[in-house]
Amino acid sequence: MNMHANLIGGEWRDSANAVENINPSNTGEIVGLYAKAEPRDVGAAIDAAKQAAPEWAQSGVQQRHDILKTTSDELFARGDELGRLLSREEGKILSEGIAEVRRAAQIFGFFAGETLRLGGESLPSVRPGVDVEMTREALGIVGIITPWNYPIAIPAWKIAPALCHGNAVIFKPAELVPGCGWALVEILHRAGLPDGVLNFVNGPGAVVGQALLDDPGVDGISFTGSVSTGRRVADACARHMRKCQLEMGGKNPLVVLDDADLEIAADCAIDGAFYSTGQRCTASSRLIVTEGVHSRFVELVSERLRHLQVDDALREGTHIGPVASDAQLREDLSYIELGRREGANLRYGGEVLSRSQPGYYLQPALFTDTHNGMRINREEIFGPVATVIRVRDYEEALEVANDTEFGLSSGICTSSLKYASHFKRNIKSGITMVNLPTAGVDYHVAFGGRKGSSYGSREQGSYAREFYTSVKTAYTRPC
Ligand code: NAD
Repeated sequence: MNMHANLIGGEWRDSANAVENINPSNTGEIVGLYAKAEPRDVGAAIDAAKQAAPEWAQSGVQQRHDILKTTSDELFARGDELGRLLSREEGKILSEGIAEVRRAAQIFGFFAGETLRLGGESLPSVRPGVDVEMTREALGIVGIITPWNYPIAIPAWKIAPALCHGNAVIFKPAELVPGCGWALVEILHRAGLPDGVLNFVNGPGAVVGQALLDDPGVDGISFTGSVSTGRRVADACARHMRKCQLEMGGKNPLVVLDDADLEIAADCAIDGAFYSTGQRCTASSRLIVTEGVHSRFVELVSERLRHLQVDDALREGTHIGPVASDAQLREDLSYIELGRREGANLRYGGEVLSRSQPGYYLQPALFTDTHNGMRINREEIFGPVATVIRVRDYEEALEVANDTEFGLSSGICTSSLKYASHFKRNIKSGITMVNLPTAGVDYHVAFGGRKGSSYGSREQGSYAREFYTSVKTAYTRPC
């Protein structure tokens, strides 16, 4: 099997060791071999980026636009093929895999347009005869570190704005799913990026990611992943006085009120909590339900769960693919066991399933009779596991929803404008939804959270420029 090399300074470089990319739907299948970078490769990538950065920062916007647009076009054209690769490496069902590749294509299209809208501000000075201008310059060399659950969309929503704003990039994908990240880099390379502007170094976070954090030559790190790694990234960035942007975990509440359309609420819960195998930072992991509809809601959700097919991500008719890895499966199971020990009622699922081929198949799990103090309601599980918390009324629902260390997404199902408006104003999360699942966002608007979920400026849409640029204020006295 051919090894997919790392890209350093415009050259594809093999390495002595490879990372095996394993299909979680069929653990006997190797999706591909990906060169395992060493810390010295990271150093070489940073040197290459240093060489390339000044010219790229001054490059014309037409050139940048064309590269991003060509990439978008190719991603659209290869949606089915790359969606299949994504499903094979991550375990998302094929329709979700294809949709994610299309999302990456849309993001590159959006940022191609953004290159033609880069601008600054010109203001009158408080001093007569002086002009003031504020312009945005590229940050410089940006390290991009991504998680395994969105193998192409998250790299896209970081790499596209980084390049749009004239930065040089060192990209480290999640070593569990390097395939889509590699394919994206290969497309960008062929689309005409100058050597060294985009570098790809695959390998374990503790080695390759850490080398990126430790190098003083990097001007900014954009990271998505767990809170524990995020903390490490923030510490390293503070040590180097460098900018960082962290997107981390969630424990997102979906509130269901007595006046909700229960069909819509059950759909939101199923989609938000269990689709993509529950492996979404925006997943609806806490279902907070008022007592008037609690029994009917639990019955409806349990009934829908019985109809969900858990199987090979590529098989037609599968609703939920496998968990992404053995480690994640073991963690999910340990939380299911913890929920039982904490006294919650496992109303549905939670069993390991066997299918025609070996894979990490887990029946989605629904806990009832839980309270917000339980660890299963406080810690991110990151699997197809949701809990129901019964509350008296809207006021208690809001209090419980906000009683968390996280603050990424949230939602409410209600037909009351009064409660919907109050919730939107008072929920402490970066994203909130009314009668929609907590997961599933647009790509042209800001994305990010509060509290332990996010640190630094927002991602996506035109908000992305806050991280990828540095503002310069210039005063001129014409004479
Ligand atoms: P993770 O923290 O284990 O890994 C994320 C990335 O960090 C990987 O590329 C990994 O190799 C790297 N890494 C690990 N140790 C490192 C180190 N010492 N130095 C530098 N890099 C290092 O997270 P994961 O398991 O890949 O992803 C799941 C997590 O991501 C969940 O907590 C989920 O909520 C979160 N997530 C958040 C968002 C968001 O936008 N808020 C989106 C998707 C996923």
